[in-house]
Amino acid sequence: RIVMGVESSCDETGVGLVRLHDDGTVELLADEVASSVAEHARFGGVVPEVASRAHLEAMVPTVHRAFDTAGLRMSDVSAVAVTAGPGLAGALLVGLSAAKAYAAALDVPLYGVNHLAGHIAVDTLQHGPLPAPSLALLVSGGHTQLLRVDDIAGKITEIGSTVDDAAGEAYDKVARVLDLPYPGGPPIDRAAREGAPDAIAFPRGMTGPRDAAYDFSFSGLKTAVARWVEAAQARGEDVPVADVAASFQEAVADVLTAKAVRAATESGIGTLVISGGVAANSRLAALAAQRCADAGIELRIPRPRLCTDNGAMIAALGAHLVSAGCAPSALEVSADPALPVSTISL
Ligand code: ATP
Ligand code: MG
Ligand code: FE
Repeated sequence: RIVMGVESSCDETGVGLVRLHDDGTVELLADEVASSVAEHARFGGVVPEVASRAHLEAMVPTVHRAFDTAGLRMSDVSAVAVTAGPGLAGALLVGLSAAKAYAAALDVPLYGVNHLAGHIAVDTLQHGPLPAPSLALLVSGGHTQLLRVDDIAGKITEIGSTVDDAAGEAYDKVARVLDLPYPGGPPIDRAAREGAPDAIAFPRGMTGPRDAAYDFSFSGLKTAVARWVEAAQARGEDVPVADVAASFQEAVADVLTAKAVRAATESGIGTLVISGGVAANSRLAALAAQRCADAGIELRIPRPRLCTDNGAMIAALGAHLVSAGCAPSALEVSADPALPVSTISL
């Protein structure tokens, strides 16, 4: 069975096609993404109206590219999955409307699904079925959460989250302070390779004895970086961009991996999945690999292309819902910009 996935929650128009095999494994056939990120770069963040219009223009061509790549015809599709939330309301509506039209025209079931659960489900395309339970560290532009995943199609429970900024948001804000382009993750990752991670001792938020063990905070770190850079500029010094980037990145990776490994160990869970855009970070992957090996935890991180927003993640989640025999959504299903991760499909 072929499942089509449509993603439009932020600034990527994504269309994925996967094959659901009889044994429940899911195979990636096409993953086409059109991004409007360049149009947002000069604003330093995503402009909702610009994103919605870009989705409108890109949606149909992206669908056709996906079918061309996979060598499939639309009549081969047996279900359509689409991001119903969380995300930007106008952006979500474009994908949802398109997916409804395809599902109705092809007379196949529609699954309105959770974008965050999709970020986790995508890992099965690369590493096969998720052991139950698994622990997921979801680190993206809008979210930073530790999740217990008992069943990717049925039960996801939040055990911790950021109390302020998301990890990706901190990357984007620190990039701005360092005069690096938006989105900030990739340029900071690159700059950090030339710097020393121990050059500057930036704070590790929420790691005090009284702090919640599985929650995160990144706004203090972001402010500390901004203060440090301002102080250097006030002294008339050149800002050592590589050292600041490396030291900031180290603080983020340190806290994320320490808490994830601790949560896995304390809950007796043997598999950690790290996903979402920030999971593309090279230092996070390296430190997680080291700490998981020390703790005897299996680590799974999808390749960078699958970590950032795409349609394949939505198709993968849709395939798992089909495989589990979950009820499809009504054709009237609406977008929910604040959909909680525990609601996997609507
Ligand atoms: P959400 O999934 O929470 O709705 P989103 O979809 O906008 O948010 P993603 O596309 O999953 O987020 O991730 C985008 C974020 O990932 C951006 O903040 C970006 O800076 C960050 N990012 C991308 N690549 C890297 C990298 N190599 N290192 C660190 N951060 C990165
Ligand atoms: Mg994006
Ligand atoms: Fe995302």
